[in-house]
Amino acid sequence: MPHTMKNQLKLGFGLMRLPRKADGSIDVDLTAALADRFIEGGGTYFDTAYVYEGSEEAARKALVERHARDSFTIASKLNARAARSREDARAQFDISRKRLGVDFFDFYLLHAMGEGNYGTYNDYGIWEFLAEKKEQGLIRHLGFSFHDTPAVLDRILTDHPEVDFVQLQLNYADWENPEVESRGVYEMARRHGKYVTVMEPCKGGLLANPPKAVKEMFDAAAPGKSYASWAFRFIASQEGIFTVLSGMNAMDQMEDNLSTMQNFVPMTEEEYALIAKAQDIILNGGSIPCTGCSYCTEGCPQQIPIPRIFRTRNNQILYDLPLEKAKGEYAFATGGRGKASDCVECRQCEDACPQHLEITRLLKECAAALE
Ligand code: SF4
Ligand code: SF4
Repeated sequence: MPHTMKNQLKLGFGLMRLPRKADGSIDVDLTAALADRFIEGGGTYFDTAYVYEGSEEAARKALVERHARDSFTIASKLNARAARSREDARAQFDISRKRLGVDFFDFYLLHAMGEGNYGTYNDYGIWEFLAEKKEQGLIRHLGFSFHDTPAVLDRILTDHPEVDFVQLQLNYADWENPEVESRGVYEMARRHGKYVTVMEPCKGGLLANPPKAVKEMFDAAAPGKSYASWAFRFIASQEGIFTVLSGMNAMDQMEDNLSTMQNFVPMTEEEYALIAKAQDIILNGGSIPCTGCSYCTEGCPQQIPIPRIFRTRNNQILYDLPLEKAKGEYAFATGGRGKASDCVECRQCEDACPQHLEITRLLKECAAALE
């Protein structure tokens, strides 16, 4: 276990989706109130990235300028895909330090690693660059966030045994999903002896509002416990997990997560059995396993709001949304943008999707169901 993380709350504050005001700017006052409550509740770990728009500056104002440096730890990430050159990629390190107003990073990651961009990180010499920064004391713990298969993780960790930890997208719904291989990826990280930070434990919010049959099961087993608490406890009960990130942007979410993690109780065998039933309902319920990360949308020539279309379709499938209501949601989601049927099958979105979804095929299904 990284020494700075011993005996701390296993909850991390993800700063990717910070609360926004009506004008679209980040609500720094609310972010500050959330950060205060998080620290007061025993939290230390804050997670941002060079590519999270406005997040690092907001973290400086809401956190770094208001709290003693030894009362929190901060993680940021370098993103080679967002850089035009080797110099551009390396420059992100100091830009992030400046935006955040910190001298060193407690945790620093190569962002969104996978087969598709591993070569870019190698070509730009990012591993060596960050090893130097660690030598200089500017990084305490080095890691990477990862979206790919266990085999790809095995290769990268074999090439780079020097990393201290990996950040994985893990949740109970995808644990046994053969397309996502959540459990396989986690087990590979542990086989290499790496500690794990977890992102998207609620699968982009989907597990905070699971299918009706799952809700009924959880309500009967633990009345009054939030559905998100089941997702957190499942992940935090796994060995070697040192932080479970949650992108909290409202105080009630913060309170719910704190209460789950402050009084953390590992899952019992009976609860694991219920999770297995929930996995089955979700996996076989026919919904689209999209996390809403939006990596697919940036380069879409047709400006198709892919995750919003998938969310509408999932609502229709899992929550028995009446057709007229689903069509209304769809029209709202696609208003002024591309519709599912506007897809020209260029497939750039499929290359960008960490869940490896067959987006073009799924869009055809959505068009048939909702247009
Ligand atoms: S394949 Fe379709 S949805 Fe994907 S980027 Fe191209 S046009 Fe957009
Ligand atoms: S389709 Fe893939 S890339 Fe797009 S939002 Fe969903 S999970 Fe993310």
